[in-house]
Amino acid sequence: MKVALITGAARGIGAATATEFANAGYAVAILDRDGEELRQTGSKLEQMGAKVLTLETDLSSLEQIEKAVSQTAEHFGRIDVLINNAATRELETIREITPENWQRAIDVNLTAPAFLSKWCSPHMKTNGGVIINITSVEAHIPKGVCAVYAATKAGLLGLTWETANALAGDNIRVIALSPGAIATDFGADYSGGKDDQPAGPTLSKDMRDYSESVIPMQRWGTVEEVASTCRWLASDEASYITSTEITVDGGLRHTWMTREIKNRIRPGEFE
Ligand code: NAD
Repeated sequence: MKVALITGAARGIGAATATEFANAGYAVAILDRDGEELRQTGSKLEQMGAKVLTLETDLSSLEQIEKAVSQTAEHFGRIDVLINNAATRELETIREITPENWQRAIDVNLTAPAFLSKWCSPHMKTNGGVIINITSVEAHIPKGVCAVYAATKAGLLGLTWETANALAGDNIRVIALSPGAIATDFGADYSGGKDDQPAGPTLSKDMRDYSESVIPMQRWGTVEEVASTCRWLASDEASYITSTEITVDGGLRHTWMTREIKNRIRPGEFE
């Protein structure tokens, strides 16, 4: 039985990805710092008949990361897939960054994926493996609203190319998956849905209007649409895909740039 280790799996994209892999017959090691929600997600997976290991781990600690990888390898005897999905919600602009929020985001969004890749990859050497780094369309779109988040996601792209090159000889494929606007608490937060607006799949009217005006497919993506892409990328059907970025964004990335040009750089020109 193949084994997938998925970070940030208590909720959102991570939980959906764990469900997708469990349905595809994988044993899943689910990692999150939120122990209570992680255990609830773990119970749901077990009720589906999945083999599950829950790892209550804070990704800002290298010591805890190393322990989580050892526990997974000891418990299941192998690691085939690593999905670096967890990220902090540090969404400050360059004016708002502090040494603390900057470091927190670097630790969780960039350092943790690097060391998880370093420590998981020896377990993939015998059978080959797949590492998927969840980045963001934000890595490409300078909107001026989230300096540290965008920097970590752009850094994760660089880490993807470098890791893919170094590990290709061991038949380990490394791919970046960049979601656009996906209906989760994080996605809602990011789009101004904080506090007074419902998060998750039941988005407020304002947020639906926003999505309809910006996203060519005129809707938010679902966690299942990201999860099924991860499962496909990890499968043998994608066996020659490595060192590249796949966007799951309903066309958002390219249109967003056009919108910026329209509204800010050359106002009036496209009317
Ligand atoms: P989410 O906030 O719903 O879930 C993130 C999970 O990561 C949470 O369970 C959280 O507890 C966990 N986490 C955060 N910090 C951690 C830490 N220090 N240690 C361990 N676990 C930690 O987010 P989501 O929307 O499901 O996003 C998942 C990934 O997709 C992230 O990398 C995010 O940047 C990316 N992404 C999301 C969107 C979107 O619109 N939702 C868009 C682009 C990229």
